[in-house]
Amino acid sequence: TPTIGVLALQGDVREHLVALAAADALARPVRRPEELAEVDGLVIPGGESTTMSKLATVFGVLGPLRERVRAGLPVYGTCAGMIMVAEKILDGRDDQETVGGVDMTVRRNAFGRQNESFEAAIDVAGIDGGPVEGVFIRAPWVESVGAGVEVLADYGGHAVAVRQGNVLATSFHPELTGDHRVHGLFVEMVRDAAA
Ligand code: GLN
Repeated sequence: TPTIGVLALQGDVREHLVALAAADALARPVRRPEELAEVDGLVIPGGESTTMSKLATVFGVLGPLRERVRAGLPVYGTCAGMIMVAEKILDGRDDQETVGGVDMTVRRNAFGRQNESFEAAIDVAGIDGGPVEGVFIRAPWVESVGAGVEVLADYGGHAVAVRQGNVLATSFHPELTGDHRVHGLFVEMVRDAAA
């Protein structure tokens, strides 16, 4: 059984811990580099990406996290977490740092100007059994991707779920729905990386 951390600096940590446990992982919060060193995979939750980024610097976990992601640590970012794994951000704070890992440009609060929050049925490549309920909360969209990035889902003409190697990201929040299939997909990625 893989041990999967949830970056617990800010955001909806508890919901991810519950979803990961339901998807057959051992789930635990991660705040410090020592805790990061002990996990086989990591979820970066939704929340507020500028705050999360500042706290990751304060807790000394941003640098170690960048290194581990580049070394192949499986990571799943939702919403603010998607912003954290982007190489480039549009409409971010000027000095906003990211972990990176996916060669993409993400636009913050992209759906927010039209509609702060909404739900939509989203077909995700690799997820069987019908669309997932996409909960979008001041969500980013993916503005553009590099050649190595697989787009797993789009909505309204914009990518909202992507994968590049060991890193998965969604604009929406499967941890809020009680449907654990996307977490299940991530747990499989962690198992495959460990095998
Ligand atoms: N708008 C937030 C940000 O820019 C993300 C919102 C969310 O995670 N639900 O960080």
